[in-house]
Amino acid sequence: MSIVDTPERRQLRELTRAFVTREVLPHLAEWERAGEVPRELHATAAKIGLLGIGFPESVGGSGGDLLDSIVVTEEIIRSGGSSGLIAALFTHGIALPHMVAAAGGQSGGLLRGRLGGGQVRGDDDLVDRYVRPTLAGTMIGALAITEPDGGSDVAAIRTTARREGDHYVVNGSKTYITSGVRADFVTTAVCTDFPGSGELSLLVIDKGTPGFTVGRRLEKLGWHCSDTAELSFVDVRVPLTNRIGEENTGFLAIMQHFAAERLSLATQAYATAQRCVELATRWCRDRATFGRPLASRQLVRHRLAEMHTRAEAARAYVHEVAARVAAGEPVVTEVAMAKNVAVAACDQVVDQALQLHGGFGYLRDAEVERHYRDARILGIGGGTTEIMNEIIAKGMGL
Ligand SMILES: Cc1cc2nc3c(=O)[nH]c(=O)nc-3n(C[C@H](O)[C@H](O)[C@H](O)COP(=O)(O)OP(=O)(O)OC[C@H]3O[C@@H](n4cnc5c(N)ncnc54)[C@H](O)[C@@H]3O)c2cc1C
Repeated sequence: MSIVDTPERRQLRELTRAFVTREVLPHLAEWERAGEVPRELHATAAKIGLLGIGFPESVGGSGGDLLDSIVVTEEIIRSGGSSGLIAALFTHGIALPHMVAAAGGQSGGLLRGRLGGGQVRGDDDLVDRYVRPTLAGTMIGALAITEPDGGSDVAAIRTTARREGDHYVVNGSKTYITSGVRADFVTTAVCTDFPGSGELSLLVIDKGTPGFTVGRRLEKLGWHCSDTAELSFVDVRVPLTNRIGEENTGFLAIMQHFAAERLSLATQAYATAQRCVELATRWCRDRATFGRPLASRQLVRHRLAEMHTRAEAARAYVHEVAARVAAGEPVVTEVAMAKNVAVAACDQVVDQALQLHGGFGYLRDAEVERHYRDARILGIGGGTTEIMNEIIAKGMGL
């Protein structure tokens, strides 16, 4: 039995499938054209407890762990949703964890103690102002690390935050920011020393703060229902109380939370592959050429068998690594390998699934066409395949 195949997780799977069938599938094509998902979808997902999966109840979440989040991610795609939808609706999965961790709210634990005399710790205050409303579906958050000069080298961030009294003054720009157009606040990586020094902090910056502008909506190959933006900061005054954790702890915080993001992307990759195997299998049973169904030909059957094997092997490995992460094991190298294994499986499977669909696979009407475009980002976002290889090589002592 798979580690994610418990009675509770089967229920979670059913809840997710019902949500996708009822709330997503009738509208997904329209959202793809609009370039974003509606805010009401966040509220609907929150109401049934989906948005808060993986976040402790003490911060407004629904409880559950990384494996529960994986079940939701997997089922959204397997029931006809998309990785683009996950990027748009679950951006809080990358925007909030640093705040929750800084408040001591990880693993369902209680928030770290409040200061005496009723004074609220800065991080607890951030939980009340940003985490709870976001998990309730009334606010949208984004995470801004990448800059126009580069994304892979996180330590080279050039957006600066200079201290001035009880504020930081932020200057710089970010790009490719998921949900950046719609976001009410942005968890922003800034340099609290000289640009490129690697001394990073995370600040929560509200939309509407003078000097903070959201630039154009970026047009993309895939993930069309997920809005992506450029952000600019010119002398933006951010209260010190909007800093997450201590000053100069941002780099470590970013690295610590990359594991969950990378495993989510790995899940999106193998689930996309699984969905494409299903779509291609159905197609090959129904489609006849030269008087016989495609699936009656050994070459086609073997191709489908290989696609299925790749998807299932990736799924098993991602689950194993996720279980180790959930158990608190420091498996940075394995997370990088899991992402690369799943992305490679996905790339091969979506390509072959489209090919098996023939001309129809190239049309907007074909679901496989969307997966083909959406899949391309999975080896780029959250650390590229090459950066994963760097981590793996380091893990090998090279
Ligand atoms: C749709 C989309 C959504 C995104 N969402 C977000 C978001 O919400 N927040 C956010 O902060 N960022 C986001 N990103 C940015 C994403 O994380 C970066 O694009 C990614 O980290 C790569 O950075 P880069 O584009 O600057 O490429 P670069 O770092 O410039 O790399 C370019 C190429 O060089 C390779 N390379 C770099 N260094 C090395 C090396 N040492 N050895 C070998 N090869 C190397 C890379 O693998 C890549 O192939 C998003 C991007 C896209 C396209």
